Amino acid sequence: MLEVQDLTVTYPGGAEALRGVGLSVPTGEVTTVLGANGAGKTSLLRAVGGLLPQYRAAIRSGSITLDGKPIHALPPWALVRLGLAQVLEGRHIFTDLSVRDNLLVGGQGLGRAELAEAVERTFEQFPVLREKADTSAGYLSGGEQQMLAIGRATLKKPRVLLLDEPSLGLSPLMMERIGVVVAEIAASGVTVLLVEQNARLALSISRQAVVLANGRVVAACPAHELLDDDKLSAAYLGGGLVAT
Ligand code: ATP
Repeated sequence: MLEVQDLTVTYPGGAEALRGVGLSVPTGEVTTVLGANGAGKTSLLRAVGGLLPQYRAAIRSGSITLDGKPIHALPPWALVRLGLAQVLEGRHIFTDLSVRDNLLVGGQGLGRAELAEAVERTFEQFPVLREKADTSAGYLSGGEQQMLAIGRATLKKPRVLLLDEPSLGLSPLMMERIGVVVAEIAASGVTVLLVEQNARLALSISRQAVVLANGRVVAACPAHELLDDDKLSAAYLGGGLVAT
């Protein structure tokens, strides 16, 4: 279980991006974080992923624990060792490398046989990546690049996966495919913390939803309650679910 307790994060100049945020992300489930632009969603992922120093931001108070152990002071490489993987907004794949080489880079540290098995597993999960294994990643469509980014992040069977806006800029069909993939990853035992603008998609694959506004948690409930209850979704999601 990933737990965030009473977390306050500030950027240079003192702007508070998160104010006393608390949430629990149960093992093997998708928890989705929703909220308007500037609500603090990305800052939350940066805090969990150890990326705040890159933005000269800092945790002012609170804690983040993974299975009871504090992880909020750890650098990204130490978090990777603990089994935390992240797919950031913008995907960050190597566009000049082939799809296969992108995966091989992601699997650095695995033994040869283990790596071959991991790449094969990824190709099984994303058949399009096998078809395009020798194509430069820069030639893939946006959705295919997202699959590559997710495939690379899950190559080493992480315990926790952080996903920032995986459906951004994708066609509805591709969004749906990504949703299925994320649900499958969680079903395989991975704890997924998902930030999404597309609330309907995110809620449909999530057990739990957390809504942020101005850096605070304003709602935390089972995802289906937000999906099914028009009043709740109107209150917390600005008059309805985003169906982009
Ligand atoms: P969006 O959906 O637009 O990405 P968000 O919910 O992810 O928004 P954050 O990006 O976490 O929100 O931003 C939360 C607050 O922190 C905002 O007030 C934003 O202006 C501020 N912020 C984010 N990044 C920085 C930064 N690098 N430097 C200073 N302030 C920042």
